Amino acid sequence: MPAVADLPDRLLLGSGPSPVPERVLAALAHRPVGHLDPVFGALQDEVAAMLREVFGTANRVTFPLSATGSGGMQAMVDTLVAPGDRVVVGVCGAFGARMADALRRAGAEPVVVEAEWGRAIATERLVEAIDGGDTRAVFVVHAETSTGILQPLDGLAEAVRARDGLLLVDCVTSLGGVPVKLDAHGVDAAFSGTQKCLNVPPGLAPFSVGERALGRVQRRSWYFDLQAMIDYWFADGPRAYHHTAPINMVYSLHEGLRVVLEEGLEARYERHARAHEALRRALAVLGFQRLASDADALPSLLAVTVPEGVDEAPLRAALLTEDGIEVAGGLGPLAGGAWRIGVMGLGALPEPQERLVRALARRLPRSDEAAAVRALEEGWGR
Ligand SMILES: *Cc1c(COP(=O)(O)O)cnc(C)c1O
Repeated sequence: MPAVADLPDRLLLGSGPSPVPERVLAALAHRPVGHLDPVFGALQDEVAAMLREVFGTANRVTFPLSATGSGGMQAMVDTLVAPGDRVVVGVCGAFGARMADALRRAGAEPVVVEAEWGRAIATERLVEAIDGGDTRAVFVVHAETSTGILQPLDGLAEAVRARDGLLLVDCVTSLGGVPVKLDAHGVDAAFSGTQKCLNVPPGLAPFSVGERALGRVQRRSWYFDLQAMIDYWFADGPRAYHHTAPINMVYSLHEGLRVVLEEGLEARYERHARAHEALRRALAVLGFQRLASDADALPSLLAVTVPEGVDEAPLRAALLTEDGIEVAGGLGPLAGGAWRIGVMGLGALPEPQERLVRALARRLPRSDEAAAVRALEEGWGR
């Protein structure tokens, strides 16, 4: 039986997971200590402090849940929404639709405000829905990874607070790549994932809950019992065991956050925006058009329509197995007609993007590789 070490290397330019820096891999491979060891406790405090910085919040309760991003969503539903709650949900892609589904299953009453896939939802429409009843919360996906749009958060907190409701946000593909400012936007709770712009393997869900939301915490879920997690992560005295923290994942998140903060958040956001624009230009030369408008485009994910006449699945398979480059296909209504290309951390740099552009140009008949690479370089200002 072959070992994991025999697997080929891939350049991960899909919708996640994203490329992981060597430093982060080395941290992951460090021998575990115990989950109640004081040295691990000190590391937990540092992770929480770094996460607060990246989330743009002073929320004490900011930590990584032992779950993937979807577990963060489930924890939000299980702890902050009660059966029967009217929750306004913005849906303009697969991840908003998942939240509506999760709310329905939990016995809440999602009020869905839809927009076309590839467009953000107009704030006025969300506000109108919030004002339409006894709204306990509004949920939006900040960075909709299925369509590559960035959902504006302005104006939502005011509207929902007027009804004493909560603003809940999915920050999975924005955290670490696009400005996330929970406190400035009045976000009451947010979740994220490690394998998108943070460049850490999948397995943890950074989670942040503000004081207003803490006043509403439910203890319906045994595993996602927020109070139990607070007693472990933020205990004044000894940390109380609830479940064994995934020690090595916490190691890797610690190192991943150090990488993010060493670059600096503003520099990182600027780099993601530049990388997105450079790749957009290069792919346009090859006939791939961005789905999102300029106003709605999400820097960390470029969703493009595949040129007419190109059979996308075999092309994507050849890129993966022969060129070693992963890009993602379309989800839901976009399957077969669109690709999703990650512009996340280590993937948001000229070299990996050039590898993708050259590999694609060589596989597409009558394409101009030199012109595409030139467009990429111009986008990077070189
Ligand atoms: C990836 C993603 C998720 C789900 O995260 P998993 O780690 O796959 O469970 C949720 N929301 C958005 C916007 C995502 O991109």
